[in-house]
Amino acid sequence: MKKLALHWKILLGMFLGVTFGFVMSNFEGGKELVQDWVKPFGTIFINSLKLIAVPLILGSLIKGVSDLKDISKLSKMGGKTILIYIITTVIAVSIGLFLVNVVKPGNSISEKTRKELVGNYTESTQKYKDEAANQQESGPLQALVDLVPENIIGASSENKNMLQVIFFSIFFGIGLILIPESKSKPVKDFFDGFNEVILKMIDLIMLAAPYGVFALLAALVVESPSADLFKALGWYALTVLFGLLLMIMFYVAMVYLFTGKKPKAFLDGIFPAQLLAFSTSSSAATLPVTMERVTEHLGVEEEVSSFVLPIGATINMDGTSLYQAVAAVFIAQAFGMDLSLSVQLGIVITATLASIGSAAVPGAGMVMLVIVLAQAGIPEAGLALIFAIDRPLDMCRTAVNVTGDATVSMIIAKSEDKLGDPHEKKWDDNYEH
Ligand code: ASP
Repeated sequence: MKKLALHWKILLGMFLGVTFGFVMSNFEGGKELVQDWVKPFGTIFINSLKLIAVPLILGSLIKGVSDLKDISKLSKMGGKTILIYIITTVIAVSIGLFLVNVVKPGNSISEKTRKELVGNYTESTQKYKDEAANQQESGPLQALVDLVPENIIGASSENKNMLQVIFFSIFFGIGLILIPESKSKPVKDFFDGFNEVILKMIDLIMLAAPYGVFALLAALVVESPSADLFKALGWYALTVLFGLLLMIMFYVAMVYLFTGKKPKAFLDGIFPAQLLAFSTSSSAATLPVTMERVTEHLGVEEEVSSFVLPIGATINMDGTSLYQAVAAVFIAQAFGMDLSLSVQLGIVITATLASIGSAAVPGAGMVMLVIVLAQAGIPEAGLALIFAIDRPLDMCRTAVNVTGDATVSMIIAKSEDKLGDPHEKKWDDNYEH
């Protein structure tokens, strides 16, 4: 595999993983064999990526914020980042709503299929409903309260508290800006070095990426439900996929318009992160690689990427919000409901908020979908309709989520005059030759 670029190696791993999964599904005991002997390697790979997430955010965000040198710059960049994230999410939801209203995939579901699906999957979706109920029970300001951890060691011990770690890191960075240089320098130097070590660790983990995705996809294939279900949900899946494709085209156009970067160069740069997002279904697990690709291959200076990307991975999920809009209306259609314009406008708001609240892990978008359904008065039982096909769609929407983050980081970098020539140095030395 010498001289093959990383994304080709990952693609090869994915292809072989899917093929291996299919072959093993046809053998007696093949599924168990894959689950016992192949899947654990996929889990180890994802774990090692997740392992990096908290130290990466801590190190790079503290360094990034303190490099900004003054607080007004930070608040300007912060405001811009959040605003663009919200705008892209609203655009994504609108595209989803437009498509699902034009294609009307729910109308092609027969009464019989609907009953079958609801019957088959109601039990599996209960856990999602329970999780969503927990989130709904809290007061309106709970999200704000959750932002501030009472203990940073505790917060760092769970990846789902990423926003708390981000809060601490920004706060720490601000403190660092405000103290005299003689005192801050050693701390900054420490985080500089710390960052380098983390980047090198990502470097090493990525050497295993082709094998990791092989194991992940082989396991996914042997564990997936039968192909018949996919056929019944074909139009729905196609609507989501078409919407996601439109989002990618939108990003490419935005990047070209705002930064002048050619579509091919942008897509080439971000491709390995997209593949990894697809294989892991987790923006959080992909974050280290998104960060590396954007900085080393797309020319975004670390000052911007280390600030914009961790926030994006946690709150900016355009693919998820688009999917939530399509799924909600699809379920309503399948149950023969006609949604008024005001209900659909409500979906724009709830899907935007729900995607912000979705954790960057597999299946999170489906948990938050429960809330979108409840607000719009759509039967939650409908979750069972889309359950079977959720994982493949999760893989695709996660790739879009990550591309959205990268796009915004480039636009912000350009506006801050922090978009330079990519310096493809240390990274390539290790794994692209
Ligand atoms: N898996 C998605 C992500 O990590 C979230 C979701 O839509 O389920 O970005």
